[in-house]
Formats: sequence, C-alpha cells, structure tokens
Amino acid sequence: MATLQLNNLHAKVAEEDGEKILDGVDLEVKSGEIHALMGPNGSGKSTTAKVIAGHPAYEVTEGEVLLHLEEGEFGDEIEIDEELQTWNLLELEPNERAALGIFLGFQYPAEIEGVTMTNFLRTALNAKIEEREELFEEDDEEEAESEEDEGYETSPMEGPADEGDIGVSEFQEILREKMEQLEMDEKFAHRYLNAGFSGGEKKQNEVLQAAILEPSIAVLDEIDSGLDIDRLQDVSNGINALRDAQGTGILQITHYQRILDYVEPDHVHIMLDGKIAKSGDAELAEKLEDEGYDWVREEVYETA
Ligand code: ADP
Ligand code: MG
Ligand code: MG
Repeated sequence: MATLQLNNLHAKVAEEDGEKILDGVDLEVKSGEIHALMGPNGSGKSTTAKVIAGHPAYEVTEGEVLLHLEEGEFGDEIEIDEELQTWNLLELEPNERAALGIFLGFQYPAEIEGVTMTNFLRTALNAKIEEREELFEEDDEEEAESEEDEGYETSPMEGPADEGDIGVSEFQEILREKMEQLEMDEKFAHRYLNAGFSGGEKKQNEVLQAAILEPSIAVLDEIDSGLDIDRLQDVSNGINALRDAQGTGILQITHYQRILDYVEPDHVHIMLDGKIAKSGDAELAEKLEDEGYDWVREEVYETA
C-alpha cells in the first residue's frame, strides 16, 4: 500500500513575484482508490499535478508532499524493512518521484526517429527500476553510515547495478499481458513514436505506459479531453484495469463529469482558487453536472 499525501500545499510560479497558485491544498490518495479532482478552469488542478511530479515551473512555498510506502509495496524486488516508510517528495527529482511510484501523464518524445512504442516503454521501465534501486541503495548507505558513527556493526549492501535489466523477450511478454488487460490492439506496440498518433491514441498510450510502469499512484490530467465516446470508453476501461489489476491509486483530474460515468470515483474533490473547497462522493460530481460550480463558490465564501 502507498499513500500520497498533500499537506497545506502552497505553490507559486517559480519566478520573481510569480503568481501564487496553490493556496493550501490538502489531499490524500491511497493505492486502490479513485479520486476525481474537479474544478473550473484556472483553479489550480494542473498545477497540483505538476507540483506532485516536481515540475520546475513551480516553487513550493509552504506545506508538504509525502509518499508513505508500506512494507511489501515493491514485492520482493525491493525490501522495505519498516512497517511504513515516508519519503518527502519535495526533496526528490522528478525521475526519483517516478521511481517511487508516482506516475504523471505522458512525456511524449515526439521527435525520436525510428523508436517503436515497445522500445520506448522498455527503456522507460528499465530506467525506473534502475533509479529505484539507486534510491534505496543511497537510503541504505546513509543508514549504514549513521550506524557506523554510532559504532554499530554494518553489513555493506551490494547493489545490483545493471543486472536485472528487462530484456527484449521478457518485455514482450509483459507488454502482451498488459495490452490484453487493457484490451488494446497489438498493432499499437509496433508503431513508431513519431508516427503521428491521434489525440485518442495518445491517451491510450498514456494508460498503457501507466500499466507498464505499475505506479502506486497515477495522476491523470484531463485524459478525457477531446475523446469521442468509443475512445472514452476504451480509456476508461484501461483506467479501471489499472486500479483493479494492479491496485494503482488514481487521481483523475477532469473538468467534466462525463468520464466519471465510466470511471466511478470513490471520492470527488472540488478545487476553487487553489484550494480543495469541497469533497464528497460520486453524487457530488453529479450535482456539479446539473448545477455547475457557482453554488460551491457561494457556499465557500458565505461561510468564510
Ligand atoms: P486548471 O488546471 O485548474 O485549469 P492551472 O493549474 O493550469 O488550472 O492554472 C491555475 C492558474 O495559474 C491559472 O490562472 C493559470 O493561468 C496560472 N498558471 C499556471 N501555470 C502558470 C505558469 N507557468 N505561469 C503563469 N501562470 C500560470
Ligand atoms: Mg488544467
Ligand atoms: Mg517544484
């Protein structure tokens, strides 16, 4: 189990006198849960996603982004030798956050000639595994050093550097299994990255990438935008499969209620002016569809 926790998160645009955007966001997403983050345009939803991922355009001025990992989170690949281990994500680089199991959207490498989806995904998976091993080695080394200072016995940890890279045929098997799970057409994997995916295909790729990387928590920002109904259903099935098959926690950012008919959220949060103004269950999203956001604003500012 993993828990992503945002505590009183404040962030501004990372330049002198940059605009303040996030004004105290509190949010907790656990593995296996589906959260919808809704709100009018400009309320700070995408900024929340980018700050979680460590985007350099924003500076955190107050608050925390924590990731709690329970024993066994990485199976027997990496041993977490405490019941609960907490990482301060704000101290980590974007790729380190990803290695710990945070997935954000799709870094689309548009201009790589002659690289197939398969190769791109395999490289991404191996990079993640290697980064994660390095993170946990550093963690062990630090512990070993501090134990040394205190005069304890230490046993040096030998990290498996590049061993365990997932090879081509092993990866083919992983990919086949994931594509079956997502009910994706096998032809997809053989396409070249620069072969001009349509908007809908890019969204499906995003879900496939999440399936391959098996994140603890996936942040999906407007993955529903611009999809026709068939493609919306495919993408939604994929998101549900991420949760059901691998227990990924989902933070689904969306402006519209429509996708929530297919990906049913356990929790719905409404963001207004850089804060979570109201949280509830799926009914809250239905009320938004009928009545818009104005009543939330009125409610919040009346009681303020
Ligand atoms: P949402 O995703 O809810 O529509 P955003 O998080 O994208 O909202 O943006 C929130 C506000 O912050 C908007 O007013 C937007 O113009 C502003 N903003 C976001 N990113 C930047 C940036 N890099 N530079 C300047 N203003 C930004
Ligand atoms: Mg946005
Ligand atoms: Mg930042």
